[in-house]
Amino acid sequence: MSIMPIRLLGDPVLREPGAVVTDFGPDLERLVDDMIETMEAAGGAGLAAPQVGVQLRVFVYDANDGAGPRAVVNPSVSDPEGSGIYDEGCLSVPGVFVDIERPEAVTVRWQDLDAGWHEERADGFYARVFQHEMDHCDGRVFLDRAERRARKDALRRFRELVAPGQTSYVPDGSAGRARERAL
Ligand SMILES: [Zn+2]
Repeated sequence: MSIMPIRLLGDPVLREPGAVVTDFGPDLERLVDDMIETMEAAGGAGLAAPQVGVQLRVFVYDANDGAGPRAVVNPSVSDPEGSGIYDEGCLSVPGVFVDIERPEAVTVRWQDLDAGWHEERADGFYARVFQHEMDHCDGRVFLDRAERRARKDALRRFRELVAPGQTSYVPDGSAGRARERAL
C-alpha cells in the first residue's frame, strides 16, 4: 500500500469525467487499497479516483458508522428526495468549508470489487458523501454547487492557503480527524 498525492483544485484531472470500470482485477484492488490509505492519512471521510489523478468511476469512503472504509465502483444516484444544507469540505480544496445544498435522501447504486451490483436507499451523511464523490466521478467539485458569493469567498481562502503553482500534496497523517467533513 502507498499514499498517493492528492490533486488540488485547478488540476484539470478534477474536471474530466471518470471512465466506467470494466476491469475488476488486482489493479483495481491495489488502487482502492492505496486510496483508502491516502484518505486515512488525509483525515478525510471520502476520496474519489480523480482526486489522485486516476480517471475512473471509483471512490472510497468512511461514513463514520463503525463499518470501516468501503469502496464504490461505477456509482449512480436516483430518486432524490428533500434537501439539506451541510458544511462540506473536500480534500482537493483543503481548509475550506462551504454550505452546500443537496437532496437529503437518494437511491444509490454501485458495484463492489467483485463486480456485484448493489442498490439501497441512503440518507444523512452517507447520502451526502455518496453524492459528493459521485460529482468527482462526473468531473464536478462541490464548489460548483455553492452560491456565487460563497464560491468566490471559498476560492479566495483556498488561494491564500495553497502555495502558488502547487497542484498536489502528499497527506502525512497529521490531520487526524480534523478534516472529517472533507470529502
Ligand atoms: Zn471532494
